[in-house]
Order: sequence, then structure tokens, then C-alpha cells
Amino acid sequence: MIPIAKPYLTQDEAQATYDTILTGWITQGPKVQEFEEKFAAYTGAKYAIALSNCTTALHLSMIVSGIGPGDEVICPSMSYIATANAIRYVGAKPVFAEVDPCTYNIDLADVEKKITPKTKAILVVHQIGMPADINAFKKLCNTHNLKLIEDAACAVGSSYKGEKIGTHSDLVCFSFHPRKVMSTGDGGMITTSKEEYYTRLKLLRQHGMSVNDRTRHLSSKVVFEDHVELGYNYRLTDIQAAVGIKQLEKLDWIIAERRKIALRYHQAFQQIDCIRLPVEQEGYFSNYQSYSVYLKENCPISRNELMQKLLDAGVSTRRGIMTTHRETAYAEYSKGIKLPVSEDASDRSIIIPLYVPMPEEEISEVINKIKEILGR
Ligand SMILES: *Cc1c(COP(=O)(O)O)cnc(C)c1O
Repeated sequence: MIPIAKPYLTQDEAQATYDTILTGWITQGPKVQEFEEKFAAYTGAKYAIALSNCTTALHLSMIVSGIGPGDEVICPSMSYIATANAIRYVGAKPVFAEVDPCTYNIDLADVEKKITPKTKAILVVHQIGMPADINAFKKLCNTHNLKLIEDAACAVGSSYKGEKIGTHSDLVCFSFHPRKVMSTGDGGMITTSKEEYYTRLKLLRQHGMSVNDRTRHLSSKVVFEDHVELGYNYRLTDIQAAVGIKQLEKLDWIIAERRKIALRYHQAFQQIDCIRLPVEQEGYFSNYQSYSVYLKENCPISRNELMQKLLDAGVSTRRGIMTTHRETAYAEYSKGIKLPVSEDASDRSIIIPLYVPMPEEEISEVINKIKEILGR
């Protein structure tokens, strides 16, 4: 069976966890700090704050943006459910906007239509690694005095107009779940260039505690901490951070390999007129966290039939990106909502295997089976 994805973890990462465990610094120690510094340097952002996952990163981004009950935040429905959940955690309302049918990124014109006096922020998702047109959203946010938050869960190492995702706005949230391009098991990061956010995020991730573990540990004087506001336990451990440091060293290679496979798919499928392939416009650089294929009207077979046939042939696939408004947990947020582009894109697309290192035979097998089933 050809898997849909696989994290690229090797002896290096295993050794790093082993070494870290034996140092005795298990959480909020030197590895977390080193990972943050290296991640900030990699993206070009001034600061990076390591967190337990991207969902907690999004939650804290909502808090530092001052979003709360009665506020509205515009986001795509077509995204992993964690995007909209983070808005609900602070008592605000997710307002769903459409996506662009080619890039699956949130549609600027539709976002603009959905701005109301209650709108406080726009939560832009870089869909499966393809950067959104972040400058356009920055401009829109400036015009309407809104906060901008980026859900870059899938977009580590992607870039927009020559700059890495992580530098374009003040709250950019990343994920290191095994399904993403680099992994720490579970894990997350926020990049920011705003010192005020950096300081507060570090407080919030550790119970609102005024003195962090390292400072206390290194102090020659007795220190007592205060808990200055309601905080959380959203820490990343040093064991995970040690894995992250190793993954970061390989990230550009991983992305280059992913892009080679994406190019192979592109070349193999571009002549097939019943499917649409990912579009990477000028100035956009995707890490190809996923490779999604859209089945057009003239496709001889339904999406679900294609998935089943591929499974029968030993090729695993996944449905396209989900829509949040059609999930049971969102029943009360979806009344009267119409998002035909998102629903169509979600229902007519599949994600095909892409991982590193993917053997040549598997790449050819995926290509041949898809061509065969589509009769091309
Ligand atoms: C994976 C994902 C998340 C959640 O990331 P976790 O690290 O698992 O919390 C959020 N948003 C998007 C778009 C994702 O793909």
C-alpha cells in the first residue's frame, strides 16, 4: 500500500531525543530556546515562540489580538476544523468566506463583503502549503482596521514574493504535526516581530507565570514568581524541540524533494483534460504539503469511485480539504450559509500520495494507476 504521507524522521532525530532526555532538561530548557532562535532565523522573523501545537498557537493569537465574545473573525470554511475552532475558543464567531477555486485560498472579494462593524480580524490560511496573497489581505486589514492572523499550519518553508511565510504579519502560526512538512510529533510555533506579542505569548503558554523555569534555574538569588494573568499549559518539550532542530536542518531539502515529486505529477497529468492540478502563480512558492487533484465535470468517474479504485490498486488517497460549516459541531454557525465554491472544491478533489523519500516505483505507480482509471 502506498501511503498518503510519512514524516521524514531518521536516526538523527532519534539520537537527539536520546541525548536530550539524558541532559535532564525536559521542558522549557535550552533546546526549546535554540529551536525558537533557529526557527526565527529560518523564517526571517524577529521572534518565534514554541507551543504544543498549531491549534494552541491559533488560540493564543486570538487572545493577544484582543478577540472575545461578540467579535467576528472571517476565515475560510474550507480548512482543517482547528482554524475555526480557535475563534470559538475565545467566544468569538467564525464568519466563513469562500475560497478561490484554483488555489483554495480564501477569496479576497468575498472576505470584503463579509466585513461588518463586529469584524475584528481576518484569519488567512495558506492552504496545504500554497501561500495566500498576503499583501492583499494586509492592505484590506489596514483599510478596515482589522487584525491579521495567519494559519500557516501547512506552510513552513513556503514563500510569498521571495520572503518566507512567517515574516508578513505579526501572528503567524505553524504546525509540526506528523502530517505536515516537518514534525516534532506534535508541536507548533508562532512567529512575530512585535515584542509586545512575544512577551505576552511566552507568559500565556506557561500559566501566566512571571518568571520562567530557565531564569529561575540560572538565578543565584531566590526568586518567587507571580501568575500575572490567566494562562495555559501550551508548552513544547525540549525532547520535541530537539527533534525540531534536526528537522529544520533538513527542511529545505525535504521541500526540494517534495517539489520534484509535485513536478512529476504535474508533467504526467497536465494533458488530462478532466482534472485540474494545483496552480502555483508567479511569486508563490509552495512546500507542497499536499498535492490535490480536482475532478472536473467531464470526469468519467466520481471522486469517491476514484478513491475506492485507487485503494483497491494499493494507492491510498484522502478526500480534499474539508469544509467546516458542514460538520455537526458547526450546525449553529451554518444556518443560511452558502459556500458553493468551497463545497464543490471539497467534494470534487482528492489528495494523492506525496512524501519524502518517495521511491521512484511508487511515484510511477501513482501516476500509472490514476491515468489507467481515468482512461488516459
Ligand atoms: C493541521 C492544521 C491545523 C492544526 O494543527 P495542529 O498542530 O494539529 O494543532 C490548523 N490549521 C490547519 C490549516 C491545519 O492544516
